[in-house]
This record gives sequence, structure tokens and C-alpha cells, in this order.
Amino acid sequence: MEKAVFPAQIPNWIQGQERPALAGEMFDKLNPATGRHLCRVARSRAGDVLQAVRSSRESQLAWAETPPVKRGEILHEMAERLRKRREEVAQIVALETGKSIKSALAETDGAVALGFFMAGEGQRLYGRTTTSGIPNRYAMTVRQPIGVAGLIIPANTPIANVAWKVFPALICGNSAVLKAAEDSPVTAWVFGAIAQQGNLPAGVLNVVQGYGDEAGAPLVENPDVGVISFTGSTVVGRRIAATAGERLAKVSLELGGKNPLVVCDDADLENAAKWVLLSAFSNSGQRCASASRIIVFDAIYNEFRDMIVERAKKLKVGPEDDDDFGPVINEDQLRNMVQCVEQARQRGANVLTGGHRLVDPEHRPGFYMAPTILEDVKSDDEISKTELFGPIACLYRVKDFGEALALANDSPYGLTACIHTRSLDRAMEFTRKVQAGVAVVNAGTYGSEPHMPFGGVKQSGNGWREPGTEALDVYSDLKDVYISIDPDAL
Ligand code: NAD
Repeated sequence: MEKAVFPAQIPNWIQGQERPALAGEMFDKLNPATGRHLCRVARSRAGDVLQAVRSSRESQLAWAETPPVKRGEILHEMAERLRKRREEVAQIVALETGKSIKSALAETDGAVALGFFMAGEGQRLYGRTTTSGIPNRYAMTVRQPIGVAGLIIPANTPIANVAWKVFPALICGNSAVLKAAEDSPVTAWVFGAIAQQGNLPAGVLNVVQGYGDEAGAPLVENPDVGVISFTGSTVVGRRIAATAGERLAKVSLELGGKNPLVVCDDADLENAAKWVLLSAFSNSGQRCASASRIIVFDAIYNEFRDMIVERAKKLKVGPEDDDDFGPVINEDQLRNMVQCVEQARQRGANVLTGGHRLVDPEHRPGFYMAPTILEDVKSDDEISKTELFGPIACLYRVKDFGEALALANDSPYGLTACIHTRSLDRAMEFTRKVQAGVAVVNAGTYGSEPHMPFGGVKQSGNGWREPGTEALDVYSDLKDVYISIDPDAL
């Protein structure tokens, strides 16, 4: 595998050019697996964002005039270049997140698949033809681009997050300004580089690096940004919705989760244990869909608890392909999680395993948290209600299906949910009544496949779904077209 090469100072991409932040400011990005310096990154502010939005606005009309099939071809070539450079991109993802190359490759392949899927939408972009109540009239809807899309993403699955937003935004005929996550700047940079290499006109995709309040907020405030798509925390999402609401911009929010996984007394416990560990700990729990509330029937609670605690203790934590999961993204995040678990312990929680930073010589320089499982936590305790975004799960004991469903729904969030049962009745009733955007039977709480819509209810989002063809609704406006004919002119 060739070694990935990237600049020591990661710039913005504006109008097809690499540009440092206007004020020349930078911040440091560390490798979470080692705690070592990885690169310096352009610390953009309002002026940089303004340049990026102007560039996107100026390029948008010609891009919108480009036939959607042609746009699709250009995006297909872009996805093809991403596929050709998958190993290099995966190395970058691994370096800046600390995840294994194996996980990073899988994520990169997901991004490529999404690119191909969305490129194909250029041959569809369906509207609707329907009937009219008025004689001699035709009625239809067509999709129209919105203008400039402001795309704001987190760092947890960086290349997937970029692809999930950029491909659908562009296929619909918008130009875009992507605000990279401050913890995964290099992935956004390399995607920008790949985008510039083909036939995508300069300025159709601009990439701005920087912090949320300094580079993200001005993007949300800019009146030339017609649609904002944000993936991130509920706290920030709420702020973005308020700002965007003030100027009536369209805003799609994909936010946090506190996802329940129910294990019934008739479940295949081996299968359930496998999926609990994967759902709670893969990607170090840094998944909006991760299972952090494990709800277990009383009849099998002790047996199942012992199974998963024993297995969690054996998980290998580190950045290699044979490790089960890697570090968390930065040291602040790690400190915050350890503190939350400690506070829960002081309120009476029993920490069955983990709850601390890994401080042996191999792990100490990186940002590693031990896989953590708690019990004796009240359903209204802060740790039951707060998304921690780390390898931490709480166990809850319930007497039956009714209690399990009620507890699953007793959350401010509603992103994903899962049940393990052999009963068709329980499975169907759960998928019908659980308050979540995704309901799963006998597997894990995971994000969606590229062709499927993903999103949550309650405080996990504001009702939009990305990606799938449903993402086209986020990034386009519908126009009704009526055509009247004159029968006397026939
Ligand atoms: P975050 O909200 O802190 O940051 C996300 C992005 O928003 C970053 O790029 C950040 O710079 C930017 N940002 C921060 N403040 C901003 C502001 N005032 N204005 C504009 N932009 C701003 O989230 P995080 O901690 O980086 O990511 C983890 C969160 O993302 C979790 O809550 C997780 O559940 C959520 N997430 C959701 C999904 C989903 O599809 N629902 C997917 C992945 C992650």
C-alpha cells in the first residue's frame, strides 16, 4: 500500500485552489491513536466562508444548467477516482480518527457506493405527472436546485460523512460549501483534491476548514446559503435551526441518539451478545446509531449480563485491524466521558467493567477508553438521557415486553432501536411502536445503507432523511407545472 501524502498545513479549497485562512491562523490536529501531532489546519473565519460562498454562488447557475445526466457522469467519475484512491483515503481516515485500516476501508467503500448511487440519480431525478381537475390541463412536478448548500459534518466516519452530503447536494444542481469537522480535516481536504481533478467546475464544491463557532456559524448565517445540512450533536443542531429559522433557510438536521437494544427472554443470546458488543463499542461508540441502552428481560438478565461483561473485558482496544475498536477522537471527549461515568457511579451506578482511560504504556499516549458497562442506573438518570458518543453502555432490567418498549421510548432521542427475540409478535409490535427512525430485529443498531433513508424522530433530527432517494428532497425544491392546451387550436 502506498503511503498517503498530504500537506503539513491543510488548506481550504476555494474556487479550485488551495488557500490558507485569510488571517493565516492555524490549529493543530493530533492523531488520536498516538496523541502525536499530525498536521496544522487552516483556522477559517467569516471572511474565508464569505469567499467560499461567493465562489459557490457564482458557479451554481452554470452547474444547474448542466443536464442532470451529465452532472451524474461527472460525479460518477469523481466516485471512480475515490475508488481508485481508496487505500490512500482509508489511510488518511485511519490516521486522523485512530480507527483501523480495515474499518477505514469499509467506510471508504461505503462512500464510493453512495457516490455511484447518487450519480445514477442524474438519470432519474423524478418529478411526478398527475391528473388535473380542469379540462385540457396537464399537471406535473419538477425538481429544482435550491442554490448553495452549506454542509456541516462531524468526524466520526469522516469520508462517509463527506460523501453522504456532497454527492446528493451536487446531483440536484446545487453548489456546496463543505465545513469540514475540525477533528478530521485531512479527509475533507483529500476529497476536495479528488473533486478538483476531474470535470467538476471550480467552485461547485468548496471546502472550508475550521471550528464550528468560527467557520460553521458564518456559513449558517450567510443569506446566500439556501439549504443547510447538518450532522452533529443535538445541542449544536438546535442552535443552527434557530439561526436558519430566523432567515427561513431550509435545514436538515441529523442529530444524536441514545439508542435502545432490547434483549427478550426468548432471544438467541449468543447472537444478541455479539450484536450488543458491536453496537455499543464499534468505532469506539462514536456512532449516532450506537446502542447505549441495553434493555434486558429479568428472566435472563444475570446470565446475559455476565456473558457481555466477560466478553467486553476481552475486547482488544487499539488501532490495528485485529483490534475491536480504537481511540476516541480527542482528549477532551475522553475526559468528559470518564467524568460522566464517575458521576453516575457517585449517584449509585455499578460500573461492571471499564469506566476509565487505558493508561498502560501501549495506550497511554493515545485517547483510549476501556469498554464500559454500567448497571443499576435509573431511567431518568443523566447518563440514561445524555449521549456520550463513546464505548459506554448501560444495562436496564425489565420484567416484560411492555416495560421494555416503554423504557426504549423513554428518551429524548429516537434514532435507531433494536430488539432480539424469536417471537414474530414481539418483533412486529416493537418495530411498529418504537419511536425511532430505524428499527431492527435480531441484529445491531447501525446506520443505513447508501440507498436507504436514515434519520430520527424526536431530538434526533427534524424529520428529513438522508441519503437514499429521500436526500433529493433535502437538496431540491419542487415546482408544480401546469400546462393548458387550447383544444380549438388542434
Ligand atoms: P458537534 O455538533 O460538536 O459538531 C459537528 C459539526 O458542527 C462540526 O463540524 C463542528 O465544527 C460544527 N459546529 C459546531 N458548532 C457549530 C456552530 N455553532 N455552528 C455551525 N457549526 C458548528 O458534534 P460532534 O461531537 O463533532 O459529533 C458527534 C455528534 O454527531 C453526536 O451527537 C452524534 O450522534 C452526531 N451524529 C449524528 C449522525 C446522524 O446521522 N444522525 C451521524 C453521525 C454523528
